Amino acid sequence: MGTIPSQNIEQIAAANDIVEVIGSYFPLKRAGTNFKALCPFHQEKTPSFTVSPSRQTFHCFGCGVGGSVFRFVMDYEHIDFPAAVRKLAARVGIPVIEERGASVDDDRQHEARRTLLKLHAEAAEWFQENLLKKDLGAAARNYLKERGIDRKIAGNWQIGFAPESWDAFLKWALDRGYRRGQVVQSGLVKLRDESRTDGEVYDRFRNRIMFPICNDVGEVVAFSGRILEKDAETAKYLNSPDTPLFRKGNILFGLHKTKRALIEANCAIVCEGQLDLITLFEAGIGNVVAPQGTAFTEQQARILKRFVAEVVLCFDADVAGQKAAERSLDALLQNDLIIRVAEMPGGEDPDSLVRKKGRQTFETLVKNAPDFFDYWIEHESSRQKLNSLGARMQLARNLAQTVGRVHDTFMRGEVINKASARLGVSAAEFETLIPKSTREFSRATPKPQPGPLPRHEIAMLCLLALRDEEARAFLLSQDWREVLEQVPDAELLARILDSDVRAEDSASQNAFMAGLSSEEEALVSAWLLQKKPPNALAVARDWWNGLRQASVRRELQAAKDRMKLPQLTPGEVLQLQKEILDLQEQLRDVSQLLPARILDV
Ligand SMILES: [Zn+2]
Repeated sequence: MGTIPSQNIEQIAAANDIVEVIGSYFPLKRAGTNFKALCPFHQEKTPSFTVSPSRQTFHCFGCGVGGSVFRFVMDYEHIDFPAAVRKLAARVGIPVIEERGASVDDDRQHEARRTLLKLHAEAAEWFQENLLKKDLGAAARNYLKERGIDRKIAGNWQIGFAPESWDAFLKWALDRGYRRGQVVQSGLVKLRDESRTDGEVYDRFRNRIMFPICNDVGEVVAFSGRILEKDAETAKYLNSPDTPLFRKGNILFGLHKTKRALIEANCAIVCEGQLDLITLFEAGIGNVVAPQGTAFTEQQARILKRFVAEVVLCFDADVAGQKAAERSLDALLQNDLIIRVAEMPGGEDPDSLVRKKGRQTFETLVKNAPDFFDYWIEHESSRQKLNSLGARMQLARNLAQTVGRVHDTFMRGEVINKASARLGVSAAEFETLIPKSTREFSRATPKPQPGPLPRHEIAMLCLLALRDEEARAFLLSQDWREVLEQVPDAELLARILDSDVRAEDSASQNAFMAGLSSEEEALVSAWLLQKKPPNALAVARDWWNGLRQASVRRELQAAKDRMKLPQLTPGEVLQLQKEILDLQEQLRDVSQLLPARILDV
């Protein structure tokens, strides 16, 4: 650190309300004076992630993470401290003052990211121009028109077109002043030979309709390209590769537009592709997500769980569609999402259904969508005769595999009852079919180990030095530097006293935390959320004198030990005797200041 002055950091902290910042990533629910949510940093079923509007900090009582608004953005977005400061500064329009001697690496990393974001934003514009204004976009325009996407909708979603050319995009980007290396890093062009980064490159997206993929805050970070022809041999959707801006399984298409509706409905309609999502959204069905052609990843399911309790999978009636939806099950069930299944009538997908039959038909289908397990049993039993016990047991065995993935004990019990009743086997019998390894899986998620904790009295003094003006002033009036040098694990307390943190001033506390390690910051965020003792000054005095007493005792013991050393000169002995007398006097003094209960410790 040290590249951005502390006053500037304070100013940025003060202007970014932590509840608003975190609330822009996922919903927070009010709980008394604080806000709560499911922790984004560990898996949990009841919210222990707490955000304090008065302290302007967050803390998870489940996994122990916590800290300032900067720490949250760093951990959530996987960026470093300067990048988090810049991001929050940009959010509120405060210029970041950067002093000389900034880390060259940070700057370079930030610069590269900014260039990539700019390239993506401009590429989206270029693709869109191709679609809306150029002759070469005519076929794509017609295709979209047939699917009900007009200019306005294309504009809303920044839909574009990549021409059928090996180098049109590359030429455009180079003309625009981007360096070849930057264009390669964006993933929008491909190396002919992956092992030679200086080798020949060509446009990754050719003759495809381009859908920009945005992050939480609506910046374009990648693209998904869809082919025009219905039965072409290449994949229907092609996505950007992983880049410094984009990791495939981490983003849900359209979430920056649909999250409000998701929260309100507490239910997400999952459809396969971008066009399905856009059609539904534009038809007024806002609570939609698309995992983008692939199955749900663990990360995507976790993101979704923060917004909704339930998902409705839109199964294409064909086998391929069902297989794709089934691949999403694991991630969804492991996050305890309730799953229902809306089977699309033969040959239709959500997009075509809404366009042909209207919004209401689709909504009714979703409303009446059966529970996944009901659907599955129904579906399986229609495919095979279940009148023999053998056939029923076989189906029960298959089903038990899937039930094994349900974490939540209550939900699992319900499913077991339902499935066993339908299949005519006893619940106990059915339960034995569930794979052993998953049977006791429920609460197995390990919690990250917190670092070593400072001893109680030091923790208490830290808390008071941070939170109480009088206690802080008292401690600062003591010879705290000398004393704390003798006390193990007191480094954090010394740093708190050394800082210009002001009690009850959350911006200065946030700025102070900026200089801490994530472990220290987690501790501080916990102290900031604890109750402050009502008689803070008296408590600080007692604990401080207790600490001094312990430290004088240690010194005294050390001096006495030195007396036992052989071959001391008479001068040394005299010196030590004087020291011991002195320390004994100090000990008496400090002990007199202490109430009896601490003396006994
Ligand atoms: Zn947590």
